[in-house]
Amino acid sequence: MTRPVRVRFAPSPTGPLHIGGVRTALYNYLFARKHHGTMILRIEDTDQNRFVPGAEQYIVESLKWVGIEIDEGPENGGPHAPYRQSERKGMYAQYAYDLIEKGFAYYAFDTEEDLEQMRKRLEAGNMQPAYDSVSRNSMKNSITMPADEVKARLESGESYVIRIKLPRKEEIRFHDIIRGWVTVNSAQLDDKVLLKSDGMPTYHLANVVDDYLMGISHVIRGEEWLPSAPLHVMLYRYLGWEEVMPQFAHLPLLLKPEGNGKLSKRDGDRLGFPVFPMQWTDPKTNEVSSGYRDSGYFPDAVANMLALLGWHPSDNRELFSMPELIEAFTLEKVSKSGAKFDVQKAFWFNQQYLQQKPASEVASLINPQIKSKGYEAPQEYVEQVVVLMREKVQFAKDIVEEGGYFFVQPETYDQEVVQKKWKPETSAHLTAIAAAFAQLSDKPSAEDFENAFKSYCEQAGVKTGELLQPLRLAVSGKGVGAPIWEMMALIGRDLIVPRIETAVSKISF
Ligand code: GLU
Repeated sequence: MTRPVRVRFAPSPTGPLHIGGVRTALYNYLFARKHHGTMILRIEDTDQNRFVPGAEQYIVESLKWVGIEIDEGPENGGPHAPYRQSERKGMYAQYAYDLIEKGFAYYAFDTEEDLEQMRKRLEAGNMQPAYDSVSRNSMKNSITMPADEVKARLESGESYVIRIKLPRKEEIRFHDIIRGWVTVNSAQLDDKVLLKSDGMPTYHLANVVDDYLMGISHVIRGEEWLPSAPLHVMLYRYLGWEEVMPQFAHLPLLLKPEGNGKLSKRDGDRLGFPVFPMQWTDPKTNEVSSGYRDSGYFPDAVANMLALLGWHPSDNRELFSMPELIEAFTLEKVSKSGAKFDVQKAFWFNQQYLQQKPASEVASLINPQIKSKGYEAPQEYVEQVVVLMREKVQFAKDIVEEGGYFFVQPETYDQEVVQKKWKPETSAHLTAIAAAFAQLSDKPSAEDFENAFKSYCEQAGVKTGELLQPLRLAVSGKGVGAPIWEMMALIGRDLIVPRIETAVSKISF
């Protein structure tokens, strides 16, 4: 029987969501949509010590920004509400007690000092300092203590935790959609705490219980959770839920651009790219980390880029809209090995989207920036600026930053170009060219400007190459930029002519 696809993204609100987390959410979302399933957001906030104010909101907003729609979650509710584990607190303990009843878990009364001593003892003997199927036999728990002592301790209200009781040596085998069969021996695992002394579940218990209660069919999460999977498999087995255990898919890590080690916040700072979807201000230190949104990336470009960091479509195609990603995505084509983050590729994706978007959309996006610079221009004008500038830049905002000359006369002229290209006779030539332009119709086309320029050069006996860059410099202040004749046609004869005259009067060589 095939189960309805229900997947969840289950972040802990301990800080800003890392871009790798966004990719995990995206793969869940693509999988859910592809299989007409349900995408759930579950906030795993049982660890109050690690709770960071604002983090949940940040997660929700980031997912929305990238275009990941949540079907069930803290905001939209759903049949399994609440979707915040802190609001489900009361639900978990019963399962830990149930495991004790069945003999698959036990009470442990060890104090911090007891645990510390155990660690020291094991380390001294060159053994793993773990609370496991061997070391538990010399600790204070309901396995080593007589039943009446356990009872007395519980009745007196002594503090305890509940630990899973793993078998001594048993192969735990499970299938991972990305990695194939994974086998781990229980001797390598420790008896993890399931219920803490304050009655709160640990991540492992809450995560498995909720996946079960919420009918999760596939657990798609980062590779860092692979070591926890055998424990989770055992929990499903011990709780009697093995039949409905979700299928696992552990995603490859996002690696540093150099390829060694996990992509970290420091790599972003070091190499100048964001590792967070949106800007984040640390509530404790007020330290600000940049994000893709505020750095000017398009959300669909970011989604496209993230999708391809670890997933390889059958052909070598790179550009996918969200519906196309949904259509093409399969977990089987997610690679096992880590995906190297590539800053140049991130730029490239953004540039591709910048070029494909309707000019009107880009114009609306940059209008506020244009206004804030004190420029004024009608929408159609801005749209044409977009068309002329977008091949030269990677970000929409750079159209305004680098194309200021479309809106105002330049105040300065690139000195390097002046030095290289402005000869003693240049001023006279440009003055004559300005005069020739002034003779053109009121709205000369790009060709009109180009023809007037060329015929001047021919008649004056100068190579066009000698005057082309000085002309651009006079009009825009720069040595490179938008296609020159189209740029002049857009700015218009009545502004171009005085600009050339001003430049000639200002540029002394
Ligand atoms: N709360 C875990 C996290 O922060 C969830 C891991 C999982 O998906 O099981 O990533």
